[in-house]
Amino acid sequence: MQNANSGKKPTGRLLKAAIWVVSIIVIVVLTAAFFQKHIFRFAATKIIQQRLLSQTHKKDDGLYAGLAGTGAPFPDINRVGPCIVVEAGNHLYIIDAGPGSARNIGLMGFDIGKVDAILLTHFHSDHIADLGEMMLQRWAGGSNAKPVDVIGPKGVETVVAGFNHAYSLDAGYRVAFHGAATVPPSGTGGRARPYDLSSEEDASLIVVDKEGIKITAFKVNHFPAYPAVGYRVDYKGRSLVVSGDTVPCRSLKKQSQGVDVLFHEAQQPAMIKMVHDQAGLSPNPSLAKITADIPSYHTSPEDAAKTANEAGVKHLVLYHILPPLPPVLHSMFLGDSEKYYNGPITVGVDGLLISLPANSAKISIKQILK
Ligand SMILES: [Zn+2]
Ligand SMILES: [Zn+2]
Repeated sequence: MQNANSGKKPTGRLLKAAIWVVSIIVIVVLTAAFFQKHIFRFAATKIIQQRLLSQTHKKDDGLYAGLAGTGAPFPDINRVGPCIVVEAGNHLYIIDAGPGSARNIGLMGFDIGKVDAILLTHFHSDHIADLGEMMLQRWAGGSNAKPVDVIGPKGVETVVAGFNHAYSLDAGYRVAFHGAATVPPSGTGGRARPYDLSSEEDASLIVVDKEGIKITAFKVNHFPAYPAVGYRVDYKGRSLVVSGDTVPCRSLKKQSQGVDVLFHEAQQPAMIKMVHDQAGLSPNPSLAKITADIPSYHTSPEDAAKTANEAGVKHLVLYHILPPLPPVLHSMFLGDSEKYYNGPITVGVDGLLISLPANSAKISIKQILK
C-alpha cells in the first residue's frame, strides 16, 4: 500500500535542490559584483603593463621595418596612409607620415619618443598628413629638448614650417599644463633638414651615416610631384629599400641591387579600371577623372615584380596599396606578378614587422598590431 506522503517527497527534494541552486547563483552573483571592480582593475593593470613593456622590449641587434601604414589616399579598413618605421641597432627612423600612422606606431610598440629623424619621400598629403602628430608625440613622449630632424628633398622646410606653425598654440597649452621639465619648450615641432639632389636621373645622396647605419636618398619619378625620392637603408650586412611613389625607374632598380627587402608602392591598374567603370555610382564627381589619372604615376604589382627580379632582391613587399582591398582580393591584386619574380611577394597590411637580424640571411615577417 502506498504511503500518502510518498508522492510529495520528490517534489520536496526538487524544491530543496532548487533553493540550493538559486542560493548558489545568488552567492556567485553577489561575490562577482563585489569583486567585479577588483577583477576589472586586475585585467586593466595587466593590459597597461603589457602595452608599456612592449615599448621597452629589446630586440636582437639587426634591421627592422614596421609597416605602420600601407595604404594610399582612398580609405581602406586594413590600411592607413603610408609609413614605414625603421629600427637599426639603437636608432629609430620613420619614413613618411601617412594619415593615421602615428597611432599605429604606438600600437605596434615603437617608442616614438626615441625617434632620431623622420624622412619624407615627397610632399603629397598622403605622405605628410601625420607629421604634426609625430612631432608632437616625439616631443611629449620623450621630454625631448630639441626638435626632431625632418629630412627630405627641397621643399621639406615649407612643410615643416607649416606644421610647426599649426601646432604652436597646442605646444603653449601643453607647456603651461605639464610644465617645462616634462615638455621642454625648446623641443617642440621639427627642424627641417633639406637636401638637394643633382640633376642626373639616378642622383643619390647619403643623408644619415652614423653607428653603422647608412641611409641613402635617391631620385625616383613621380612627375609632376617633384622632387620625389626613395630611401635605401644599410646596417650590419642587411639592407632594405623603400620606393616612395614612382613609376618604374632606373635609379630604383640600381639602388635595389641585391637588397634583402624591397618595399615597393603598388597599384593594380585592372582593379583601378573597375573602380573607374563604376565611378558614376559615386556621389564624388571627381572619382572618374582621378581614377583615370593615377595609373600614370604609380607602378603595377607586375612592374614592381619585374624590378625586384632585375635587381635580384630577396623579398618583395608591396605597400601604398591601390585600390583599397580586403585580404580575399590579394591574389587578384597581384595579377601576373609571380610570372616575373620567383622570390616571395607579400601584399602589405598595417602592423607587419619585418626582421633582418644582423649579419645573417634570415628574413622573418609577423603581424604585431594588436
Ligand atoms: Zn605621391
Ligand atoms: Zn602616395
